[in-house]
Amino acid sequence: MNSGSRSVCLFLIGAGCAAALPSIWGGPVGYAAPSVLASVDTTRPKGSPSTDSGWLERGWVIPGYLSSWGLPPLPGQFSLTDTGLVFRSAVGDLSARAATISLAYIDDENGRAHYIFRIDTGVFETDAPGPLLAATAHPMGVDSGSPSRAPPVRRLVDGSDPAAPLRAARQIAASRYADSLYGLFGQPRAPLGLVGRRGRAAGRIGEYIASRDSLALDPSHMTCEAQLRHALAHELGHRWQVRAKAQLAALWAGVPAIRDPKRYGYADRSEHQAEAIAFAVSFLQTTAGSAAPAASSLGLLEHYELLVPGTRTLTRYLLLQPVYRTHPLRSLLTTDRIRYAREK
Ligand SMILES: [Zn+2]
Repeated sequence: MNSGSRSVCLFLIGAGCAAALPSIWGGPVGYAAPSVLASVDTTRPKGSPSTDSGWLERGWVIPGYLSSWGLPPLPGQFSLTDTGLVFRSAVGDLSARAATISLAYIDDENGRAHYIFRIDTGVFETDAPGPLLAATAHPMGVDSGSPSRAPPVRRLVDGSDPAAPLRAARQIAASRYADSLYGLFGQPRAPLGLVGRRGRAAGRIGEYIASRDSLALDPSHMTCEAQLRHALAHELGHRWQVRAKAQLAALWAGVPAIRDPKRYGYADRSEHQAEAIAFAVSFLQTTAGSAAPAASSLGLLEHYELLVPGTRTLTRYLLLQPVYRTHPLRSLLTTDRIRYAREK
């Protein structure tokens, strides 16, 4: 089984992940190779933040959803600031700067156009692109900032403490979050360990070895807790694949492929499913204690589904499990057959 997920690391400026994401955040993530992390800085000093092309003026605000390094999308907005084009999340104080931006594709499924823009660290999706459309003609127009403004690469664990990675891995393995995942996908027989040298060299931040029923993570190449959570859900998703082949095959009937060739899981059903599982877990954890109206949560799910098809189907299935028996969306998503009949 291809366990290795290349990674997704959330590139942040401003506050760290813990502050940027809800405490119940189920885990975004991705997978990141050391070389990627070492050069993750997206700022390329040149020009002025006011942009030469004039396609974007200060004061413009473009609402949408940012998916950094493959992590589930976060609602927020882009605006032009002194440091260039910056995304700020609606939840927490996550911010990310885009030095380059281009239109990747337009998804007009369900009769509504969703514009997916590619930025340095991932994709930004919006149905009201406004002046961003003009940016495609000036792909470098948002470049700005100075070297001194470049944020440092964040690390989940202290690189000077050799015991820190295993400690972080064992910590999440013993967390309530992990208990929820074990309740859904079962708990590996072997204690959770660290990705070995070969796996790390291959850029893996997580591995599930089916023959040994063992799961390993590499916190030393992660940038935040959200990534750790996502990796755990992704790898346990592989465990579920091994044990519930027929069930997953039935659930997966009719699920379209990932459209973005740069998204992890593209053209690889096993990895696509593992990402959809991790996205579904993320959505369920995010909305478990949310006071947001159901319509708002369902809208968020559509944005997950847009990037990783199958997320909605798996969300509905997982909601039927005892772990989520008190989830606020359970009855809505599992009994409203009319509204959701189109997808399964
Ligand atoms: Zn994988």
